[in-house]
Amino acid sequence: MGVYDDRRVKIVATLGPASTERETLRAMMVAGMDICRINTAHGSPDERARLIEDVRAVAAEVGKMVPILLDLRGLKIRTGPLAGEKVPVARGTTMEIVNTPEPTTASRIGIDFPSLFEVIQPGSRILISDGLIELLVDSVREGVAIGKVGRGGLLLGRQGVTLPGAPIKGGSLTETDRVDLEFGVEHGVDFIGLSFVTDATDLKLARQVASWHGSNTPGLIAKIERPQALDNVASIAATADGLMVARGDLGVQMPAEKVPRAQKEIIRVANEMAVPVITATQMLESMITQPVATRAETSDVANAVWDGTDAVMLSAESAVGAYPVEAVATMGRIIREAEAEGPVRTPASSMPIPYLEEPSAVLADSIARAARELTEQGNIQYLVVFTLSGASVRRVAKYRPVPHIIGVAADEDVARRLNLIWGVRSTVVPLEDDPDHLFRIAGRLIIEQGLAPAGEYALIVGSLPMTRFSGRTNMLHVRPLGT
Ligand code: PEP
Repeated sequence: MGVYDDRRVKIVATLGPASTERETLRAMMVAGMDICRINTAHGSPDERARLIEDVRAVAAEVGKMVPILLDLRGLKIRTGPLAGEKVPVARGTTMEIVNTPEPTTASRIGIDFPSLFEVIQPGSRILISDGLIELLVDSVREGVAIGKVGRGGLLLGRQGVTLPGAPIKGGSLTETDRVDLEFGVEHGVDFIGLSFVTDATDLKLARQVASWHGSNTPGLIAKIERPQALDNVASIAATADGLMVARGDLGVQMPAEKVPRAQKEIIRVANEMAVPVITATQMLESMITQPVATRAETSDVANAVWDGTDAVMLSAESAVGAYPVEAVATMGRIIREAEAEGPVRTPASSMPIPYLEEPSAVLADSIARAARELTEQGNIQYLVVFTLSGASVRRVAKYRPVPHIIGVAADEDVARRLNLIWGVRSTVVPLEDDPDHLFRIAGRLIIEQGLAPAGEYALIVGSLPMTRFSGRTNMLHVRPLGT
């Protein structure tokens, strides 16, 4: 399929110092990078603006639609700087804990979070540096808490702090995030990643704030990294444009051994609700320093494919690693092999999307399911789905059909976003109400762009009248492409 390979599961790669050169970006796109992630936790706005420009330019050169995901950092709590050298803290040591970024010493640690004492109590755990160091809180008094070191280690300055189970509200759209969100809307990014989402209200707020800064608002990817988000995953999925299994933070917010099960559950809900889902973090971690993945990492990527994920993600491997292009290529090979073996999990059930109650929406879901069955019975290799908002495409992909799905949107922004979805490649055609003419024009373009060969039969899915309704899939039609 031209510059696209025939993988169904997509590759998200985080960009950073290792991958910002145009040559590297080009090589990563050619190797299979489908979505670029830019993390606002690093770099300056100017650097991010340049990177967005570079991604757009290189994608145009390569001839690939590559959406950009701008990931907001959320409420990242950090320790204060160090007073002197690195501080070794031993198990059992008593420490004073304060809620200001005061410099850390061997007996007193500053945590830059004014509300700290409202959310911890005797018995709370404070995890530092991704859980490497653990403090167990004994008492909380006016202006200071006393705790013991449960797991010791070498304390560095400005380290990330996790407060497992702490009832932190509103951490998903900080003041800094609002500035970054405005930046994202103004620079036309395709998706915004929202960190530390707790429930659907976090998404509604972000959507509202985004709408203040432009009419073409990015899709929202809810990062599931708190246990509360896991409890609310269905209502979050109903409000989001995508989910991310953010295994890094999830594995410190809850015991790491609970993450594999949580991953399966998040993916299951996302699939049922026709919402794309990204499985993230440490997928090929050893490739930060080595050109080959471990067997365990290889297995992790393949298992995410078989769990039903829409996309897998590279983080430090592509942002700061020594082998960003190789990491993308490795992921591509693992995905292709896993897909060749066929799905292990059966596709989404035949139940309509649970939150849909309107008869027309239930019917639309049934048509999407029927599309899968018809292409199997008729041995049809291409499914062409016309869409205004992307909803029809998501619905068709939900049933994980065997043919390639080609999403046809009227708008380039919608078309670009479709590339996050399992099995979907996309193109842009101005929609019109004469279906016969529209199908002919779209078919020719699909062939021209190398998305399908001429003469192949395609099952066309859409909603008539074409330009009127969004998400009301009501039509199936078979014809050879280009005629
Ligand atoms: C994660 O925690 O797994 C994650 C993707 O979030 P971030 O890398 O932004 O902390």
